[in-house]
Amino acid sequence: MLTRTPKEVWTDFVESMQERCSATEFQNWIAPIKLSEESEAELLLEVPNIFVQQYLLDNFREELYTFLPSKADGSLALSFKITEAKREKTAPQAPRPEKKEESPTSSHSVELNRQYLFENFIEGPSNQFVKSAAIGVASVPGKSYNPLFIHGGVGLGKTHLLHSIAHEAKKKHRKIRIECITTEGFINDIVDHLRSKSIDQLKRHYRTLDLLLVDDIQFLETRLNFEEELCNTFEALLNQGKQIVITSDKPPGQLRLSERLIGRMEWGLVAHINTPDLETRVAILQHKAELKGFRLPHAVAFFIAEHIYQNVRQLEGALNRLTAYANLMNLEITKDVAERTLGELFSPPNSKKTSIENILKCVAAMFEVTVTEIKGSSKEKKFAYPRQIAMYLAKELLNESLLKLASYFGSKTHSNLHHAWKKISTQIEEDELLRRRIQAARRNLES
Ligand code: ADP
Ligand code: MG
Repeated sequence: MLTRTPKEVWTDFVESMQERCSATEFQNWIAPIKLSEESEAELLLEVPNIFVQQYLLDNFREELYTFLPSKADGSLALSFKITEAKREKTAPQAPRPEKKEESPTSSHSVELNRQYLFENFIEGPSNQFVKSAAIGVASVPGKSYNPLFIHGGVGLGKTHLLHSIAHEAKKKHRKIRIECITTEGFINDIVDHLRSKSIDQLKRHYRTLDLLLVDDIQFLETRLNFEEELCNTFEALLNQGKQIVITSDKPPGQLRLSERLIGRMEWGLVAHINTPDLETRVAILQHKAELKGFRLPHAVAFFIAEHIYQNVRQLEGALNRLTAYANLMNLEITKDVAERTLGELFSPPNSKKTSIENILKCVAAMFEVTVTEIKGSSKEKKFAYPRQIAMYLAKELLNESLLKLASYFGSKTHSNLHHAWKKISTQIEEDELLRRRIQAARRNLES
């Protein structure tokens, strides 16, 4: 039973949503919902279409449970009524996004980032293939790989490449009709046009494009109502030989979408962006610093890149923080300044789970020696070298004093450990193979 009136409950919910959602989200998805006067023990909500209902249930379930009453079986005391036709008649002036008749375009197109150009996208083994595919598509849309499906983890440059394709295609083909849109934007577009009864216009708009760029298709997994429309659009364009580029955080086969859509996406070229290797990360940092008008010494770039290795956006964040700090304090950018400013960005993962035992076991396995041999005092190279690597990793990964770390290796002073750390640090800069082995060990130890 309700202890409060449906109106009070609904008003509270709407007020809370107004604070939580962005203005656009609120306007699109919450504002169109009205509480029916017929509401009794259950709330009866009037929605303009099924999409608004679905969006509310998919995205705000927790909030609904917080504010609305539940039934004896635990489900929400809530029902819906679709009232588009009635509302059109009774409230013709209700605010609706209007679409221009003559030139229907998407109101949710993404504004292209002007920095996201091919020349600002640093190449390395992790992304060479995908970058050249992207350049191919921008040069001759619809002719090389169609669709081009780019997938990879967060912050690895998918959106950057997508925008680069748009910039380059515009430059090369002046009259080309391009739409660059996020999957969320595409869905919002459909909803807007459904509301203003101009969905056919929108369909026409999408079907007249030469190049459609869709960012973050994984968003569709939670909005399956819209899958068919997107799939129809893709098919219409592909059948006309028009180019499609899609980005995603996982490969097509791992998306929880229909076989039909997955099949379409796998049709062309599926390309993966990997995490960049150390050298590429250093080059990215130096390039970004240059764009900001800073000169970043190689040793500092190396130091940052060595500690942040999973996500280019994080690298950029570190650089922004460092340059802001150096600017503010009027300091030269040195490794010490970087360590001081960025230390906390590095330390949490470093000090996480690993222990001296794990480090010793890991290095022992790497060099096929025993933990006792690493901890022993033999000067033979086959034991001394792994020992130095273990000392290096211990200093890098454990948040303990040098003296304490040295004691793990049976030493009473820290000089051996410090010497080993310095030696291996220098070698890592020069020896790619060693660098990779250490990186792999760090990843294992930190995960
Ligand atoms: P994603 O879409 O994969 O999450 P973004 O395209 O938004 O990643 O990239 C995050 C940031 O990292 C952007 O500022 C982008 O310019 C930068 N970035 C990623 N990879 C590279 C690269 N290879 N060269 C230069 N900048 C890069
Ligand atoms: Mg992105």
